[in-house]
Amino acid sequence: MLTKQQTIMCIEEMERMFPMAHCELEHRNTFELLVAVVLSAQCTDVLVNRVTASLFEKYHRPEDYLDVSVEELMDDIRSIGLYKNKAKNIQGLSRKLLKTFDGQVPATHAELESLPGVGRKTANVVLSVGFGIPALAVDTHVERVSKRLAICRWKDSVTEVEQTLMRKLPKEMWSDAHHAMIFFGRYHCKARKPECQVCPLLSICREGKKQAKVRGFDG
Ligand code: SF4
Repeated sequence: MLTKQQTIMCIEEMERMFPMAHCELEHRNTFELLVAVVLSAQCTDVLVNRVTASLFEKYHRPEDYLDVSVEELMDDIRSIGLYKNKAKNIQGLSRKLLKTFDGQVPATHAELESLPGVGRKTANVVLSVGFGIPALAVDTHVERVSKRLAICRWKDSVTEVEQTLMRKLPKEMWSDAHHAMIFFGRYHCKARKPECQVCPLLSICREGKKQAKVRGFDG
């Protein structure tokens, strides 16, 4: 397993490779961010952005999502996976925001996770991107990269990956590390064909060494 120092070194390298890493979900405020993140579960940011481009023209506030039938909202987001549940959740969270939070997106884990369709990962993205509060959302890229590099163990759950990253990285690095790891996983350490041969982290990467043997290059 990588030490704290090695983990920090890896993240710094990823930040050098992707200095412009940022949240790729288009939004103009925290409420739009929340809706976009809920829509993004098991779906690409590109597709979410395509849908929200028109969705956010039609709906601006929580009230607007409750002014239409759930069928109409389902229709508006139909091209997104799990659209039926997501439409119900967006109406549910809009209702709760109005009833409990004066129509505002709350800024704590517990309050965010009390909203329908909002789990730990969504709450972390909203806290970090929307409010600038240090948080480390573990998505599929962050999990894969952490496991390949042996920052954590292969068998770790998503919660354990998050806890390990929070233990190994100083708090002030969490938000930027999250974006850097997503870009690194999305564009370099890809699920199918990681670019190990040209990876600056190859010399300390568990998976990279394995790939070197299988694909026949120097690890
Ligand atoms: Fe990913 Fe390969 Fe780099 Fe390891 S060496 S971090 S598996 S691209």
